[in-house]
Amino acid sequence: MLQLLNLIGSELKPANDGEWLDQIEPATGEITGRLPRSKASDVDQAYAAAAQAFPTWSTTPVEGRAACLRKLAQLISHNSAQLAEAESRDNGKPISLAQSVDIPRAEQNLAFFASAIEQFPSEAHIPAGPSHINYTHRKPIGVVGCISPWNLPLYLFTWKIAPALAAGNCVIAKPSEITPVTAWMLSQWVLEAGFPPGVLNIVHGLGPEVGQAIVSHPSIKAISFTGGTVTGAHIARTAGPMFKKMSLELGGKNPAIIFADCDFEKALQTTIRSSFANQGQICLCSSRILIEDSIYDRFRDALIEKVGRMQPNDPMIPGTKMGAVVSLAHRDKIMEHIQSAQAEGATLLCGGSIADAPNARCEGGYFVQPTVFEDAGPECRINQEEVFGPVITLQRFHTENEAVQLANSSPFGLACTIWTQHIGKAHRVAAGVESGIAWINCWLVRDLRTPFGGVKDSGVGREGGWNALQFFTEPQNVCVSIT
Ligand code: NDP
Repeated sequence: MLQLLNLIGSELKPANDGEWLDQIEPATGEITGRLPRSKASDVDQAYAAAAQAFPTWSTTPVEGRAACLRKLAQLISHNSAQLAEAESRDNGKPISLAQSVDIPRAEQNLAFFASAIEQFPSEAHIPAGPSHINYTHRKPIGVVGCISPWNLPLYLFTWKIAPALAAGNCVIAKPSEITPVTAWMLSQWVLEAGFPPGVLNIVHGLGPEVGQAIVSHPSIKAISFTGGTVTGAHIARTAGPMFKKMSLELGGKNPAIIFADCDFEKALQTTIRSSFANQGQICLCSSRILIEDSIYDRFRDALIEKVGRMQPNDPMIPGTKMGAVVSLAHRDKIMEHIQSAQAEGATLLCGGSIADAPNARCEGGYFVQPTVFEDAGPECRINQEEVFGPVITLQRFHTENEAVQLANSSPFGLACTIWTQHIGKAHRVAAGVESGIAWINCWLVRDLRTPFGGVKDSGVGREGGWNALQFFTEPQNVCVSIT
């Protein structure tokens, strides 16, 4: 049995009051370890360690900070096989996905922000015939909180801590209690990477307990959060009146817009991937597939033919494409959405049930069949609420305007994909869709320099590149007389 510990200052330790939470492998339903159930007193200790480390870390030259990030990236790379296996066990995702996406990206996040901080520019404003020069001094904020979800555990954990640390802040980070193992592995290498004690603290536990303690701590000055919209709204209500800086990356109900003039095969293959990758548990997954009327039947039939053959399998088997969903509670939530869609009159085209265990090892695991509905109107719950599982709907449109209208008919605005060979149309549709990200004839292509985030109920703020470094710094305008 694994026993996870908090990293506070230079110590790996259990929660102060000695309480533990079970850690469960979703593919088997078995308890495989335990993690600290930390509370406010653990956050207070982490804060004290971080506040003590801040004066030195915030004045460490960027090259020194970058070196620590690069070393941690290297340690991830050296341990990538163990990390991928742990991520797959902890989350239920196919091991091939953890190997090819999650762990390489965690390494890239750290390496990217090591380089980014070395290139991060400041602005100067120099009038003609100058008597004064203004320049922007970007200072680290202080001690900041980073809270990440379970769907891409180490990937999103490092995406948050890397810019925070690079910019000179000290961090209190909380991974999801559902998938804490890779953050725990990382915590064992933080000091080896050269980070002084207290610069990065990792505190495990429940969102409403330890997460809440971070968000409501009077001296933690910024919160970077990725998770569900309801949790995001709660965090905003807590941190807003305390005037904390906040970056909230929340849920999605992303449309894939398929025009008749698309590259049919590419649109089909990619839409299947964008709908069901990681069992549909990526905030960027497509869940509303909007198809132009003239190809609707052909696209639907081809999609059903392929999806109908997809079956979840043991995530630890190398060729597995679909694994387990993350927890029993989450499986039940997905099944409730499926039942509610049927009650609302949606037609089930394939899936719709809990999937059989793929082998004896996975007898107690949480598997859901990939599920496709049609005939659900845009106002139906299944087209309005995020399921965050392997469940999609198909809807028909006749005109470009109707496609945009349907795309915008959910409260979310994170991402969309647009499939057409007509670049002018693609550009018009992208401009019309209310989303922070639009992919034209592709999906999940990420350049870490680009702004990442959503509009409407999908969040506030942007991550990535300069956006993240700007978020994690406080700009001070300095005006100098030169007469
Ligand atoms: P949750 O909102 O339930 O949890 C996210 C994190 O917040 C977890 O670490 C959780 O802890 C913690 N948390 C829960 N309650 C509180 C609280 N009161 N105060 C502080 N922290 C709290 O999201 P999920 O983990 O279920 O993740 C899935 C969601 O994340 C989906 O909605 C998905 O769309 C979204 N997401 C958004 C992305 C984006 O970039 N926009 C990317 C990836 C996912 P605990 O686990 O202990 O409850």
